[in-house]
Amino acid sequence: MPERKFGQLDGIPPGTYFADRHELMVSGVHRQPQAGIAWTRNGADSVILSGGYEDDEDHGDIVIYTGEGGNLNRKQIAHQSLTRGNFALAQTCTAGQPVRLVRGIKKRYGSGASIEGKYRYDGLYAVDGYWSRLGKSGFRVWQFKLVRIDADQVVGVPLAGILESAPGYDAGAADESAPRLESVVRRIVRNTEVAASVKELYAGRCQVCQTTIPTLAGNYSEAAHIQPLGMPHNGPDHPSNVLCLCPNHHVMFDLGGFVVSDDLELMSPRTGELLGRLHVLPNHNIDMDRIRYHRRMFQEDIVVPFEPGPRSYRARKSRGQDGQQQKLLS
Ligand SMILES: [Zn+2]
Repeated sequence: MPERKFGQLDGIPPGTYFADRHELMVSGVHRQPQAGIAWTRNGADSVILSGGYEDDEDHGDIVIYTGEGGNLNRKQIAHQSLTRGNFALAQTCTAGQPVRLVRGIKKRYGSGASIEGKYRYDGLYAVDGYWSRLGKSGFRVWQFKLVRIDADQVVGVPLAGILESAPGYDAGAADESAPRLESVVRRIVRNTEVAASVKELYAGRCQVCQTTIPTLAGNYSEAAHIQPLGMPHNGPDHPSNVLCLCPNHHVMFDLGGFVVSDDLELMSPRTGELLGRLHVLPNHNIDMDRIRYHRRMFQEDIVVPFEPGPRSYRARKSRGQDGQQQKLLS
């Protein structure tokens, strides 16, 4: 097997088909015989999207990828935790590494059942963010927003074919691919007017550390959306949903380094430890529902080691929620 590598592999362009998991593994594209996330303790380098997770969303250039665990026969039956492959994908996000995305292609013959078929390497995706949420079956899942890199260079095969034949993706999903391309661009450009108004209000001073970053052209700061813009969060581009932060605190905020309580205290979502206070000017009306949304994004339910069968379900029911975290984060 070739050496483990992040990014593009020599001689394997996007659009390359593989007959089965073994072929994928031997090629080095996805070095895991069964798991959907190929990872080591230095991060994840490839993922397979095969319709096995009910909370996945495949929009072509943007994929909402559900992490691993708690899944049995395509149903979520237990909470996921930010461990193992899920933790590795979060590491890949923080490190700014790309992942290779492989799609499982299912073929339908007439009206009969679909047949597990080939896999296709569909190019490199950036891990644009991660969060947790309660999925369709009521269990907490960890999700990752994957955004295709160099969309125009990747894949000559129309995506509509996959969207039509994969379970859970109807033809309507394919129609929505155009506005999503737009949202990739918006992620970078954003609404400069709203961003500028909040940054101006604070004169470029970070609302967490109160630092200003002087440059020859004035203070540098960043506008951080509390409930993220774009799918699947669709937060509004409005001053009530924007903070003025330094780059360090912007990254921490986006990736769950801290959350904000209703009393504007900053805390670690994992331990509940108080980390400081958010400074808010009287004429900046922050929408607390956005703050709560952000808090829920990094909430972790009790960690139940995954065991198929009813036992893990009982464990979850009897142990209940973690008291302290519930109090701080609800
Ligand atoms: Zn700061």
